[in-house]
Amino acid sequence: MDQSRVLSDVSLSREIIHSALKPVIDPASRSDIVAANIIDDLVIDDDGVRLVLTVDPSFAAEMEAVRAAAEKRISAVAGRRKVTVILTAHSDAPSATTGPDDDERSHESPRENGAAGPETIPGIDRIIAVASGKGGVGKSTVAANLACALALGGHRVGLLDADVYGPSQPRMLGISGRPASPDGQMILPLRGHGVTLMSIGLLAEEGEAVAWRGPMLMGALQQMLSKVQWGALDALLVDLPPGTGDVQMTLAQTVRVDGAIVVSTPQDIALLDARKGIDMFRQMNVPIFGLIENMSSHICSKCGHEEHIFGHGGVKAEAEKLDVPLLGTIPLLMDIRTASDDGTPIVISMPESAAAAAFSDIASKIIKGEVK
Ligand code: ADP
Repeated sequence: MDQSRVLSDVSLSREIIHSALKPVIDPASRSDIVAANIIDDLVIDDDGVRLVLTVDPSFAAEMEAVRAAAEKRISAVAGRRKVTVILTAHSDAPSATTGPDDDERSHESPRENGAAGPETIPGIDRIIAVASGKGGVGKSTVAANLACALALGGHRVGLLDADVYGPSQPRMLGISGRPASPDGQMILPLRGHGVTLMSIGLLAEEGEAVAWRGPMLMGALQQMLSKVQWGALDALLVDLPPGTGDVQMTLAQTVRVDGAIVVSTPQDIALLDARKGIDMFRQMNVPIFGLIENMSSHICSKCGHEEHIFGHGGVKAEAEKLDVPLLGTIPLLMDIRTASDDGTPIVISMPESAAAAAFSDIASKIIKGEVK
């Protein structure tokens, strides 16, 4: 299984790292982690050393010490390079790694193919994915407003920002700073407007997460799901990257996703992409809570006149065709954008507005489970 990839480096070789790791014992096989063949990926480059260890989930509790020991051992030979060791779950379920064979396998549902299905997270009642077929349709805006609307309604809500292409939730919720980890293991999430937040953008340097592939993403997502002290939550919303890629697959294979919301604009192209997203969730046995039409109509900020500049009713018609509920429609409104830019989503900054009411209405549908 050792598919170690070593990118050009003359002074630090794979052999040096392997011999540094010899004293680190894999609790499952009781041999060293190199001989145990649990090194799934090893990258050495100018940025540092990244090692991914594939773990038998039944030894998960012991593996944090193994991870820390491996990180320490590599650091001792890596000079000034930054060393990151990540754990990913060992599973017979399809891998999220991209590759010719994996592509096909990854469309199988672990729930359908009889393999152990994804787990729930203790303390978290429901996990809701917020997805979109393409970028820029307002998925993050919708996720932030739904999270705030749930918090306003007295629900305990978390928001996991997994949009590797543009982790924007800290900005939308007006949160800055990095999460603390007092014991070096558990990560304390941030909080804003009553929402508990963790963002993939806070685990990586700016722009770094975009380059992550299967095992790295899986490790990062698993860290955010299991190492972050979410506490008891009525709902954890996951702001996914646009499209149907590794993050979507990994999430659905790692934890039980109770439902997915797909955000689309009324334009045809966005709808086509939304359809692909719905197909993917269906293949992965993730229930579709419904579609949200964003930028549904334009409301002039000066005179209040309403115009359907992207067409009208497209998402409703599509929802009927696909036999999924239309959860609601959100207007294209300057105040929605400025509120997000200012770090206070419109449901908080203008709670009496029609847009805030539209978000709150959708929030109550997804929390009550009416759409299930
Ligand atoms: P995505 O997450 O789909 O890439 P964002 O939520 O980042 O999209 O939104 C893209 C841009 O559109 C942002 O500037 C956001 O403020 C703006 N936006 C999103 N929804 C609306 C809306 N309903 N009215 C006005 N602007 C919006």
